[in-house]
Amino acid sequence: MNRHYTIATLGSHSALQILKGARDEGFRTLAITNPQTERLYRSFRFVDEVIVLPSYSAFPSLFEELRARKAIVVPHGSFVAYLSPEEHKKMTIPYFGNKAVLDWEASRELQRDWLTRAGLRLPRQFKSGAEIDRPVIVKLYGAAGGKGYMFIRDAADFEERAGSLKAQYTIQEYIIGVPLYIHYFYSPLSGELEIMSMDRRYETNVDSLGRIPAAAQEGMDVDPSYVVVGNSPVSLRESMLAEALEMGDNVIRVSKEICGPKGLFGAFCIETIITPDMHFYIMEISARIVAGSNLFIDGSPYSYLNYSEPMSTGRRIAREIKNALLASNLRAVLDDSSVL
Ligand code: ATP
Repeated sequence: MNRHYTIATLGSHSALQILKGARDEGFRTLAITNPQTERLYRSFRFVDEVIVLPSYSAFPSLFEELRARKAIVVPHGSFVAYLSPEEHKKMTIPYFGNKAVLDWEASRELQRDWLTRAGLRLPRQFKSGAEIDRPVIVKLYGAAGGKGYMFIRDAADFEERAGSLKAQYTIQEYIIGVPLYIHYFYSPLSGELEIMSMDRRYETNVDSLGRIPAAAQEGMDVDPSYVVVGNSPVSLRESMLAEALEMGDNVIRVSKEICGPKGLFGAFCIETIITPDMHFYIMEISARIVAGSNLFIDGSPYSYLNYSEPMSTGRRIAREIKNALLASNLRAVLDDSSVL
């Protein structure tokens, strides 16, 4: 039955993981690429078909063709970057996930509201430079992958370096601790939440500053930057796992109050920093598969505990779609705009 359906996604971000998982669960697979990435996606045997677009902005021109192929679109981070929330909402191709979450995720204010209502601990936010009473991180709007973030020591430092910034930004308490990104999967079919895997990011140059003694750094003209260059796997102290799961539960519970009854489902990631007193501070939530899960195409220690077979987040998504088909309830895993 699954071979009648095609799992499709844009050739970028976590597409390999998504399509490999789809193939492992018995679906046909389609990568939508641009001319630069076409060869890459064709080179993998689990990709059944490749459609090449001159650029991803032409994606809407494919809607009829995707419908004819009984495609189910699985979005990832680049998908959201290439297609605006408006374009997302206009699309009626079967879409894995709840699009209502997009608005809550895209706005820093709404996201903060969501996470606060879920009882999570967030870094303090400052309205103006004058209020700053501790080290802060200044986040420019639209900064991607931590590029354009500034570490600011105090109010005077803010005045000197950020006081005249024209762009919009938020000022957030700088949390000193270990960053940990927790990848979850929530099944709308069973109502169960799983921890799939975890990673930490490797960021230049902030992750290398500790290699130079502070005394030697004095007088050097070097500012920390937060540009992601890679991810490494982490397993969390087992005594902290219960809280990690509870944070996910609370995020899901509140999502059902704010994004319609289906709420957030499928893959999501809570981005945390853990302080020496063992508190999770939440930086952000990503409401879909994150690139850090690419480390675990063969599964993670956590997914192995549940499945005893390789189970990436991409494969878990395909498994959920398969289970929905078996239960004749495909709609349960699709956005309500999907026309079947
Ligand atoms: P993406 O959207 O790609 O996930 P982003 O641009 O939204 O990234 P964040 O994930 O918010 O960026 O942050 C990037 C990095 O900046 C984090 O991994 C972390 O190292 C650092 N950072 C962000 N917020 C804080 C904070 N409040 N305290 C300390 N460090 C922070």
